[in-house]
Amino acid sequence: MAKTMAVNAGSSSLKFQLLEMPAEQVIAQGVIERIGMDDAIVTIKYDSEVEGLIDDSEDEDHITFSKNGKDKKYENVLAMKDHQQAINFMLQKLTDLGIIEDFNEITGVGHRVVAGGEWFNHSVVVNDSVLEKIDRLADYAPLHNPANAMGIRAFQKLLPDALSVAVFDTSFHQSMPEENYLYSLPYEYYTRYGARKYGAHGTSHRYVAMRAAEMLGKDLKSLKLITLHLGAGASITAIKDGKSLDTSMGFSPLAGVTMATRSGDVDPSLVYYIQEREGLSNDDMLNILNKKSGLLGLSTISSDMRDLLDVQDTNDHARLAVKIFINRIIKYIGQYIAEMGGVDAIVFTAGIGENSIPVRQAIIDKLEYFNVSLDIEANKIRGKEVEISTKSSRVKALLIPTNEELMIARDVESLK
Ligand code: AMP
Repeated sequence: MAKTMAVNAGSSSLKFQLLEMPAEQVIAQGVIERIGMDDAIVTIKYDSEVEGLIDDSEDEDHITFSKNGKDKKYENVLAMKDHQQAINFMLQKLTDLGIIEDFNEITGVGHRVVAGGEWFNHSVVVNDSVLEKIDRLADYAPLHNPANAMGIRAFQKLLPDALSVAVFDTSFHQSMPEENYLYSLPYEYYTRYGARKYGAHGTSHRYVAMRAAEMLGKDLKSLKLITLHLGAGASITAIKDGKSLDTSMGFSPLAGVTMATRSGDVDPSLVYYIQEREGLSNDDMLNILNKKSGLLGLSTISSDMRDLLDVQDTNDHARLAVKIFINRIIKYIGQYIAEMGGVDAIVFTAGIGENSIPVRQAIIDKLEYFNVSLDIEANKIRGKEVEISTKSSRVKALLIPTNEELMIARDVESLK
């Protein structure tokens, strides 16, 4: 069977998942962090009981077993000068560990690419023209697209025969109508610079919407869904007729709801006002909006929802941060119900959505007017697909763990 790798390359890291396709079985996953440093960290988790997996590794020192003795973890710290070297090491290690017999078994590589602009409304096979466009779109995602392109080039060198596919975070949202993607700015900025809303997390919203339709036993095209991707980055999407109708992130992933360290929506004139008073450069201000705001900025203690929930009974700032996080989500849900003329199901996903019982409860409790009622017992669960609304709830609430890697691997398969 063919193996497909789903890749998420960052500026100093590379996450990957190797799947047996079309069986959709994950056979290894891992991450290389601190690429470019003398102490890069390589972690590969794999299942030693997968059929045909022989372990003749000579690297026993770096391998540990999980409690059930089944899953294995390879860990190592070593110098890694660039992505090319990191990927070469990772592929070599997959071979040493017996996960693949040789590189050519990997017949497809799907790359997460953050910005696809208006050029890409679906995943595409990478050729020179696609790569050039990904490079040019670095203006829209300066921290991400160059790293994504670097990952693509490095894999192409090492696996020249594998099909290389780009899967864009933005492409799912290309279906938004112009009244939703345009800002009320002079139109010429849109035509001149592509100044508009692109959204993000599209692969995640697309995946959970598809699963929601399957769980409800309905045709996705007949449903009105609101998908809540609530992780360190958070976005809300209104999905009608199987397409993204509107989404909370904007020109960049800074807009929308309150996030771990990102502000979400702010009056732009306030940004200018603060910059002037504090004597901040544009870069400083963007850094504050991206890295020092959101849950961290409001609470003053942590960007992690778990920390805030732990202390919210005794810490006013933590309580306020959680309250604002929930309030912004409710506002978007209300707006999207009005925009779609109703809603059939609300879907929770990503770190907070999948794991936080109290956050899900607080959100659903606020939606009584829309006839969503929570099944308190069903909601006492983490990280599993489950309906968390009561049988009589007119609007369903679903918990669906996201799986962007699977979506990427499926896109690779569909383009073969
Ligand atoms: P993600 O970006 O999807 O990996 O989500 C990361 C976020 O999930 C972190 O900021 C955590 O605050 C949050 N998270 C993970 N587990 C829990 C939990 N049990 N309760 C609340 N938040 C959680």
